[in-house]
Amino acid sequence: ESNSNLIRATLFPGDGIGPEIAESVRQIFKVAEVPIEWEEHYVGTEIDPRTNSFLTWESLESVRRNKVGLKGPMATPIGKGHRSLNLTLRKELNLYANVRPCYSLPGYKTRYDDVNLITIRENTEGEYSGLEHQVVRGVVESLKIITRQASLRVAEYAFHYAKTHGRERVSAIHKANIMQKTDGLFLKCCREVAEKYPEIKYEEVVIDNCCMMLVKNPALFDVLVMPNLYGDIISDLCAGLIGGLGLTPSCNIGEGGIALAEAVHGSAPDIAGKNLANPTALLLSSVSMLRHLELHDKADRIQDAILKTIAEGKYRTGDLGGTATTTEFTNAICDHL
Ligand code: NAD
Repeated sequence: ESNSNLIRATLFPGDGIGPEIAESVRQIFKVAEVPIEWEEHYVGTEIDPRTNSFLTWESLESVRRNKVGLKGPMATPIGKGHRSLNLTLRKELNLYANVRPCYSLPGYKTRYDDVNLITIRENTEGEYSGLEHQVVRGVVESLKIITRQASLRVAEYAFHYAKTHGRERVSAIHKANIMQKTDGLFLKCCREVAEKYPEIKYEEVVIDNCCMMLVKNPALFDVLVMPNLYGDIISDLCAGLIGGLGLTPSCNIGEGGIALAEAVHGSAPDIAGKNLANPTALLLSSVSMLRHLELHDKADRIQDAILKTIAEGKYRTGDLGGTATTTEFTNAICDHL
């Protein structure tokens, strides 16, 4: 029975460890009394001709209607004649920006304890436009597409994010000294948007220098915005700074205000069904989703409880060097709530 005070959100538990970590989110949302009603959708067992993929048309409609969702990892089905699940989601929902908050988890020791940055990656064009061909034997060509429309859209999202999340600075990451036309246009668009946000500092950093600075002193950065390929690489580099993909949340932003949060890791078939998975990345993704919905109280409470549980160190899953099961770790978070 549906309650009109509840916000409807789509949940894709996904494959492998997906259902186990999704259960952890469901349990924690219940204890924290988050006003969300989940609409659950699973990946189909055959190709839906309307999406040309294993994702059903109904599941995509659910995200379009609710405008907000959480996605567990999906195993890539083997075989030809269908689109990859992630590509289908990205194209059908026009997910143009991938946002990854990346901050040190207190009590979980890595090389740095003061990482607190956000990477925002353009997700629809650039080097990943899929336009590659052979010119003649031994010579191939790949086209990097940068458009004013997509660049303005992602820049606008980055500045809006900075403003609404109390961030001070946006750094555009580029290689415009070599890629003068493409990255040049990207920067021009970032500058245009920056002018509309005088309260946010704006800087431009060349990608190679950015890598060096991130590894030497990640605290130098706040919000980073960049074209597709650079974003793919830098976002994983940043995940590595805080302890890996098992801890890293992400959120995909689509046209018309859609937000689809997801863990960055895969379905971990080696530990699926064994109650061993670490639900942290999906949980922190669900926190990103709550922030997108401006449910900041709930987001803060849940994030605090997760961080306290990890910091305490009594219940940690195997990937963080502990022996706790998914259920024990989840229960410990619930106790902190
Ligand atoms: P993976 O991320 O599933 O696993 C890599 C290693 O990390 C494994 O040892 C796994 O046990 C461990 N691991 C991952 N997440 C964990 C967690 N939450 N807790 C504890 N340990 C964790 O990568 P893979 O093995 O390359 O891919 C497996 C499947 O996942 C493939 O079908 C792949 O296509 C799919 N995949 C999906 C997504 C996605 O949906 N976004 C992303 C990556 C991979």
